[in-house]
Amino acid sequence: MIGGLFAKVFQRVPSLLYRVSLMMKPQVVFVLGGPGAGKGTQCSKIVQSFNYTHLSAGDLLRAERAREGSESGQLISNYIKEGKIVPVEITINLLKKAMEETMQEDEKKFRFLIDGFPRNGDNLQGWKKVMEGKADVKFVLFFDCGNEVCIDRCLERGKSSGRSDDNRESLEKRIQTYLQSTRPIIDLYEESGKVRTIDASRCVDEVFADVKAVLDKEG
Ligand code: ADP
Ligand code: AMP
Repeated sequence: MIGGLFAKVFQRVPSLLYRVSLMMKPQVVFVLGGPGAGKGTQCSKIVQSFNYTHLSAGDLLRAERAREGSESGQLISNYIKEGKIVPVEITINLLKKAMEETMQEDEKKFRFLIDGFPRNGDNLQGWKKVMEGKADVKFVLFFDCGNEVCIDRCLERGKSSGRSDDNRESLEKRIQTYLQSTRPIIDLYEESGKVRTIDASRCVDEVFADVKAVLDKEG
């Protein structure tokens, strides 16, 4: 009798766990830094060692630009070339959809690295409007790297990336956008103790050793 009761309870454990996991809110780490600071490189390494899904705002926008029938394709194209920040309605919808699809496919995938977002006040307002209460922002991983190093890395990447914005003219504009619009957002998160700063001017493995230490400590 008692044995049967235990058996029934244990049979239900997986389904209870399943339901708890369904209730998990997305756990988000925002990844910020200048163009070429190494955000994408480090996110790829994080994904190999930790249970995170990498969503790059820039990659999602480039995919939307290339999608046949996209209403925003031309607009995105112009903004990217000019190094300007695409209107938040477009970016936030792409991010939300990607998060939902990831969690629908596998309910255990609720940890996200959101790379290249929020890049300005408009992005932050859009996030609050659409996602506040629906996702927890754990902290901001900030890849701190001098402008000249960033530019040199992107020019090097431009030799093979085929990106319309990895050229000196676009890069000067992207650096200005970063300094004027993104740095104040990082400063804002800094005020609430939410920024984990990594010296990103060093080699990939040294940078990753610091990233790993942060994630080992804070998940
Ligand atoms: P972001 O995503 O911040 O724009 P990427 O990760 O694409 O930057 O890196 C930009 C370029 O710099 C890439 O060509 C990459 O291989 C290179 N790179 C990334 N991290 C480092 C590093 N720590 N040292 C030297 N080169 C790097
Ligand atoms: P990235 O791939 O992060 O270097 O971004 C390339 C370009 O995509 C940027 O210069 C912007 O034009 C656009 N972009 C990337 N992230 C965002 C964002 N969060 N909001 C708006 N535009 C963005």
